Amino acid sequence: MNIILIGPPGAGKGTQSKILETKYGLKQLSTGDMLRAEVSAQTELGQQAKAIMDSGKLISDDIIINMIAQRITQPDCAQGVIFDGFPRTVEQAKALDRMLAEKKKPLTAVIHFQVNEDELVGRLNSRIRQAQESGQAVRADDNEATLRQRLAVYREQTAPIIPYYEATGLMKKVDGMAPIEDVTEQIEGFLKSV
Ligand code: ADP
Repeated sequence: MNIILIGPPGAGKGTQSKILETKYGLKQLSTGDMLRAEVSAQTELGQQAKAIMDSGKLISDDIIINMIAQRITQPDCAQGVIFDGFPRTVEQAKALDRMLAEKKKPLTAVIHFQVNEDELVGRLNSRIRQAQESGQAVRADDNEATLRQRLAVYREQTAPIIPYYEATGLMKKVDGMAPIEDVTEQIEGFLKSV
């Protein structure tokens, strides 16, 4: 089973990925987490990526596509993958189609999280507050100005993948503003029917 979660930053993709990982034995691949690991390890890629990520813009398609192409050949991806934060451009979506066709592992479903942008800002602010209260580090791109920039980038560069996947008939919409368990239930309902 290979699933893509699409939705703006803060839509709840990461939360649902973790739940689906456990329930279905899939591997969550979050390109954001992979890039943050490169930044912490101070690799060459991490050093180049940091400023772009902090500004809320996208890393180039080539870099991301290579990163995913290598990652999905690892044994922990054999049962299937939940793609979280990837693809983020039509170019990346086309590259993923080619990779999956080569591995003869088709896409099972594309879950589109629909959200209200104003409520997302509220969610982000509480995520920051919670992190601060529990003494965790706040991500450098977790602030309202960068979130607004990331939302603009989402509308311009990522939203075009929605009609791309709609045309495949694999896309399902969920209400990202619903409680966590309700969103999980909606997704599980779709997965039963595929
Ligand atoms: P969010 O919290 O907005 O969902 P992520 O954790 O997925 O963000 O990603 C953080 C940053 O990493 C993005 O703003 C972008 O700079 C970079 N990034 C992550 N995934 C991709 C991708 N597929 N293509 C390009 N850039 C990416």
